[in-house]
Amino acid sequence: MPSAKCDRAIARVKKIGVGPLGHYIGGVPESGAGPVFDNVEPATGRLLGQVSDATADEVDEAVDAARKAFPAWKAMAGTERRAILHRVADLIVARADEIAAIECLDTGQPWRYMSKAAIRGAENFRFFADRAPGAADGRSLPSANHLNYTTRQPIGPVAVITPWNTPFMLSTWKIAPALAAGCTVVHKPAEWSPYSARLLVEIACEAGLPPGVLNSMNGLGESTGRRLTEHPDIKAVAFVGESRTGSAIISQGAATLKRVHLELGGKNPIIVFDDADFEQALDAAVFMIYSLNGQRCTSSSRVLVQRSIHDEFVRRLVERVRRLKVGNPFDPATDVGPLIHAKHLAKVAGYVEVARSDGATVAAGGTKIEGDGFYFHPTLIVGAEQSMRIAREEIFGPVLTVIAFDDENDAIHKANDIDYGLAAYLWTRDLGRGLRVANAVDAGMVWVNSENVRHLPTPFGGMKASGIGRDGGDWSFEFLMETKNVALAYGTHRVPRIGV
Ligand code: NAD
Repeated sequence: MPSAKCDRAIARVKKIGVGPLGHYIGGVPESGAGPVFDNVEPATGRLLGQVSDATADEVDEAVDAARKAFPAWKAMAGTERRAILHRVADLIVARADEIAAIECLDTGQPWRYMSKAAIRGAENFRFFADRAPGAADGRSLPSANHLNYTTRQPIGPVAVITPWNTPFMLSTWKIAPALAAGCTVVHKPAEWSPYSARLLVEIACEAGLPPGVLNSMNGLGESTGRRLTEHPDIKAVAFVGESRTGSAIISQGAATLKRVHLELGGKNPIIVFDDADFEQALDAAVFMIYSLNGQRCTSSSRVLVQRSIHDEFVRRLVERVRRLKVGNPFDPATDVGPLIHAKHLAKVAGYVEVARSDGATVAAGGTKIEGDGFYFHPTLIVGAEQSMRIAREEIFGPVLTVIAFDDENDAIHKANDIDYGLAAYLWTRDLGRGLRVANAVDAGMVWVNSENVRHLPTPFGGMKASGIGRDGGDWSFEFLMETKNVALAYGTHRVPRIGV
């Protein structure tokens, strides 16, 4: 176990878990009056604690707290918001080990990634804190008779709904820009990973965030999540999760004309041409699917390999996959931990059966690891065809599908011939080819000769079933703020006179 802080974190979760985990509304923890559901530890399958599904009244109470806190938060100088958000970042850094330990315990994600994810959460806060003073800035667009200027104002209370794969980091990624913009937030974390959200709201309040500016609700998607997205006082929904949930959220928010930002699923190709740096491409292919247990929206879950190097690439992949260390998420040497939940394990295992019945070959892994917890052997599927479900559907686990291609056009066709369009990774030493393929692939983000390396000013998001909208840099503020144009007459134009 990495440090004594983990013991404190575990003791803390056990303490939170004693009574059902409730909500945090208006700066105050509330025990929750709704029905409860169980939250289990992925590494053991044991009960971690119970969680309360918010009642309709509790959702109303949280939205009301966000609505009441909005005018003062919006009016606060950006420099003051900046100072508070930097204090949030400081406290995240101070408690990074505790946050990482809670993530390991609650999600099964390995320590080696979670310790970095906690720090990335702090970086998200710092990045957007520094942009808070300029968030309202606009443009000057003079015409012959008017000076037009634009300015932005925060849209109002927003709902942030997040998934279970890297819950803390993803929550900061959505909540930090909302607070920097001057919006107030009601956050609902995923039911399978509720604990780190409690830590975040506590930290934010300790850092001086006024009561009601950030509220945290627990509950199920179909009840608490739905109520939030239907609530008339919630002006926008920032959502990260599955594509079909994104679609439901559009319907649920339609009656109240909700603005939505959807970051959804992916089936991202890594395209390896025969002139690529073979070793680096291999490293990237392995890292981008088996890190974070493959429970990562930008995972490279399909390797498209040029036929001339296909067999050697597969041989080396098999070697590497068999050497991955699967184990306790708290062990710093663990590469792959348990999957989040028994239901998710069954889904991932089910895809191996689908692969076999469709005629593909399981070259490594493919089975559950016997014993406690939701462990699954890292899996490699070869001989797949573009038409097979394992080549087209998001599995969201440590399962890599290999598909051969003949030439550039074939690679582009196979990369694009699916419903998703989140990320694509290209490996080639031919600069022209890298540029051509980057232009041709339908993906919101393309990395050439690189794994996913996030740079916060750049846009993050997907095309097609992978989402609507972009995060990062000013794109986050475009979603979270209303743009207003003000036209000032120079006094040089004639106002048309009618009815004189
Ligand atoms: P999910 O869609 O099942 O749940 C996500 C959140 O939505 C949870 O908090 C859930 O309670 C809530 N929810 C469910 N139904 C709802 C409803 N009807 N109304 C309102 N809220 C509802 O997703 P998941 O299984 O938690 O997460 C995995 C998915 O997230 C994968 O598809 C993955 O690709 C995606 N993801 C995408 C990104 C990205 O940036 N594009 C990042 C991480 C994860």
